Amino acid sequence: MAEVKTTQGNGDVVSLRHVSKRFSNGTLALQDMSLDIGKGDFVSLLGPSGCGKSTALRIIAGLGDTTEGQVHWPDGKPERGDVGFVFQEPTLMPWANVFDNVWLPRRLDGTSKSAVREEVNEALEMVGLGGFATAYPRELSGGMKMRVSIARALVTKPKILLMDEPFAALDEITRFKLNDDLLHLWEAHHWTVVFVTHSVFESVYLSNRIVVMAARPGRVTQQLSNDAPHPRGMASAPPRTMPTSAGTRRMRCMPPWMNTRPARRSQRERLTHRPGRWYRHRTSRCCELRIK
Ligand code: ADP
Repeated sequence: MAEVKTTQGNGDVVSLRHVSKRFSNGTLALQDMSLDIGKGDFVSLLGPSGCGKSTALRIIAGLGDTTEGQVHWPDGKPERGDVGFVFQEPTLMPWANVFDNVWLPRRLDGTSKSAVREEVNEALEMVGLGGFATAYPRELSGGMKMRVSIARALVTKPKILLMDEPFAALDEITRFKLNDDLLHLWEAHHWTVVFVTHSVFESVYLSNRIVVMAARPGRVTQQLSNDAPHPRGMASAPPRTMPTSAGTRRMRCMPPWMNTRPARRSQRERLTHRPGRWYRHRTSRCCELRIK
């Protein structure tokens, strides 16, 4: 089992301590998972389908219980609104406009529309939908719906933002753009984020800590810290290549910050020199790194 430490040094928001989860059908979805999420961390849970990423996220969110182990909140159990959750699907109310969709969590708190108007508009501005408060979900693209979903998670100003493969269903260009915007928001606000993904590229691009998981049983196998410099940016940049080494092809579509000499060297050391875990991808796809 890998013991995962925080990297930001500001104390932990939440810790999983030796958490196991067995479903009633006997599936051991998580085994002895320990994980500290520090304030301001952007942590990716990375692994193949079925390795327990969503189960871990749902346990942190309080949407599922543990079979063994504990979820520890050092500052006290979260109250309503302290945990923001973004699902893979935007899950918007089709009969309500954008404003009302974002208002929903505050409405459930009993906050009136007029009292929350400024905060809803602020959340919409943040995700780039300032002019769409009166639009209905049917009038929005997939990427815009996801932005509404993110605004809805942010409107309560959560202490921790949990994102369960939020961009997996989007086309690649929209996904890159949303990744970029999310990263810029995180760089500006330093929220605490736990981001589930099975994309190695996405995890390296976004996070400062990558928790690698494996399946059957779901468990943490490795943690990687990613101190590549900020600001990172890619959506507006043309595809870049990295120098090749013997037997490997050029890597395409890497963000510019990965192409700088110090970052490149540290990335390669960290991600390719771990025996048996990481290796250079030999095709010309977008990301060179894969988990064995
Ligand atoms: P991931 O998010 O990494 O794809 P999940 O956390 O969704 O993985 O699932 C981990 C394992 O737990 C899988 O084998 C899945 O089939 C199983 N699982 C998830 N939810 C349930 C459930 N409600 N009942 C039974 N098994 C489940």
